[in-house]
Amino acid sequence: MKLYDAALYIHIPFCTSKCDYCDFYSITDYAYSKDTVLEITKQVENDKITYGIDRFHSIYIGGGTPGSLSPELIHTLLNRIKVINRGVLPEELTLECNPVNISHNNLKSWQNDGINRISLGIQTFQDSFLQLAGRNSSRKKILRALEVLSCKKALSISLDLIQGLPGMTAEDQLADLKEALSFHPDHISWYSLSLEKGTVLEDQWANRHSLNLPERTEEQVWAEGCQLLERAGYIRYEVSNFSLPTMSCNHNRAYWEMRPYLGCGPGAVSMIRNPEGRIERHRVAQDVKSYAEGSVLLDNREMPDPIDFLKDYLLMGLRVTSGIDLNSFRRIFSCVPEELFPLALARFKRDKFIETDKISLKTTSAGLDMLNTILISFFDELDTSDYAGPVNWPLSSAVCS
Ligand code: SF4
Repeated sequence: MKLYDAALYIHIPFCTSKCDYCDFYSITDYAYSKDTVLEITKQVENDKITYGIDRFHSIYIGGGTPGSLSPELIHTLLNRIKVINRGVLPEELTLECNPVNISHNNLKSWQNDGINRISLGIQTFQDSFLQLAGRNSSRKKILRALEVLSCKKALSISLDLIQGLPGMTAEDQLADLKEALSFHPDHISWYSLSLEKGTVLEDQWANRHSLNLPERTEEQVWAEGCQLLERAGYIRYEVSNFSLPTMSCNHNRAYWEMRPYLGCGPGAVSMIRNPEGRIERHRVAQDVKSYAEGSVLLDNREMPDPIDFLKDYLLMGLRVTSGIDLNSFRRIFSCVPEELFPLALARFKRDKFIETDKISLKTTSAGLDMLNTILISFFDELDTSDYAGPVNWPLSSAVCS
């Protein structure tokens, strides 16, 4: 079997408390945290062999709140993964944290273990909205964390902000963005809140107006925020992600470019080539207890057919402003977009929502804001095509950009 490189995602399903909008898999009982970490190292080792992965080119430790684990447990995790990855940690190694996790001691230990990127969940600087969202945080704790982080020059910092919490005005949302920019992070993720079913916030706000934007539409606030970021030197490289030049998140790029990724830990999702040579997606069961006791149960296991994989490739690839690399596309699908959805493609090119050249197919900035409409048209036309593969995936790492 030909080996291939993959991104590695580690899901640490523990949080000190549950935020009211969150539907990620996490629990607040840390009793199984040590055994879970030990089992994750075993899963990484076994799956790397089972799925023919040569090497991990990025690691993202998310959750949950991995920053809330003890530095010793993080050390155990990364020490073992380094051995499994033939003694080398990748160039990008991200740890997700909440402000209360940031201290000089933790940062020193994490950096010694190879972590070079911190993704900090701020969400908002305003105490009233932090409380409304049920966050175990405060403006004071956030400012303290940012002060500590500002002393660490060798770390790349990404800040997460949520826009659209219930009751937020346009000014509230833009004030958060301006305050985040004043700390000059390398990267900002500015996400719209979606009220997911089953969360406390969805329950409370299901039948009420969630935003308070009397003078501006959501689209106007979004456009103003994008302008603020661009004027400060940030590039919008994905729908909700902005970075200083060269500081985009390589790990997340692997998702958007549909490169293989292995997810380990309860609730983690993978997209890999399975031992039968087929593209496989699966999720580790959301059950900490059985995982910590040694059972890696999989659910949501599926092997997408060529047309479904192609749709996902478009859906993910067009989120990135540099677009879809046409050389990779041709090598994977053995055809070009013009053969698959010629009418919709010609229409969106004529209306200046899509641009193509020899290298890429991408949305214009106007096109990015109507991505769903574009995708629906592409998919409708694809459904009338007779495309049936073959799908040559994954490409060798030399071809994936
Ligand atoms: S800290 Fe993050 S993962 Fe944990 S409950 Fe809050 S939003 Fe969810």
